[in-house]
Amino acid sequence: MTKKGRDTVGFIGIGNMGGPMASNISKAGFDLTIFDMDRERAQQFAKTHGVKSARTLAELAANDFIVTMLPNGKIVREVLMEAEGGALIAALKPGSHIVDMSSAEPEGTRELAGILQARGIDLVDAPVSGGVGRAADGTLTIMVSADSEAAIDQVTPLLIAMGKQIFRVGRSGCGHAMKALNNFVSTAGFVATSEALLIGERFGLNRGTMVDVMNVSTGRSFSTDVLMKDHVVGEKFGSGFALGLAAKDVKIAADLAKTVKRQSPVLDLVVEECMSARDSLGATRDFTELYIAWSRK
Ligand code: NAD
Repeated sequence: MTKKGRDTVGFIGIGNMGGPMASNISKAGFDLTIFDMDRERAQQFAKTHGVKSARTLAELAANDFIVTMLPNGKIVREVLMEAEGGALIAALKPGSHIVDMSSAEPEGTRELAGILQARGIDLVDAPVSGGVGRAADGTLTIMVSADSEAAIDQVTPLLIAMGKQIFRVGRSGCGHAMKALNNFVSTAGFVATSEALLIGERFGLNRGTMVDVMNVSTGRSFSTDVLMKDHVVGEKFGSGFALGLAAKDVKIAADLAKTVKRQSPVLDLVVEECMSARDSLGATRDFTELYIAWSRK
């Protein structure tokens, strides 16, 4: 807490999602310091939003909360435990709270939570859904889990600054498991819609009309309503969600299926298609360009 009584937040990873989320934290009155390995992006963000930009991870350690919004769990662990010779973990005090809002691997999260807990530090996993639009509006869905309910209580005011629906989904790692499974369902919906549009077009249907029909019929989903309408039919292909991140998420869900020994033929196919689209188009291309990869089949 600052002298003025404001809680302090160190936010790591101000990309497509982290940028608007951090902005909402600052608007909600928290004292914010950001960090990103892209120095130029960090400086620009700090200037635009009137917040502090840390030059090293260690500078973040004194904050009441550390938030990570990074590409995957491996990077989260590197940043917290290994980067700058482990400076952040060495400087963090017992009683600190880390909130990982990235979409990460649930088993890795559970393991990391145990390592941090041994040092008296709580790790709360709180991944999000809703995309860049809802990150900007502060209306994300947040799936929060930790081994300590008290830790979730402590970080809830911070989550409220970014989200509208906050679900407590279980013990450590359950938030990340929930997020991966949600993304499996939404990606499968996108793949199914792509397939339907391509079949329909070949038969003589118009894809815009098909999406309009689906959006007031039982086929409606986030994919038909937002992604297909604006980004595929509207040809923007700019949802702000990278194909490489989408492929990572469904792979996390498939690994989870293996861990719990459940067969997952639909999921396995979705993973295969996402991986091959990522490899042929490139990981940084927009997720909605998956439609383009499908159309070439
Ligand atoms: P992004 O690539 O736009 O942003 C990631 C940021 O992290 C970048 O600014 C990058 O410079 C920074 N970064 C990467 N490695 C770093 C490191 N070692 N140290 C410091 N900074 C580092 O990604 P995003 O779309 O904002 O996604 C972030 C996370 O949120 C991912 O786990 C993603 O799966 C998840 N997610 C994304 C969306 C979406 O629609 N984009 C929606 C929900 C969840």
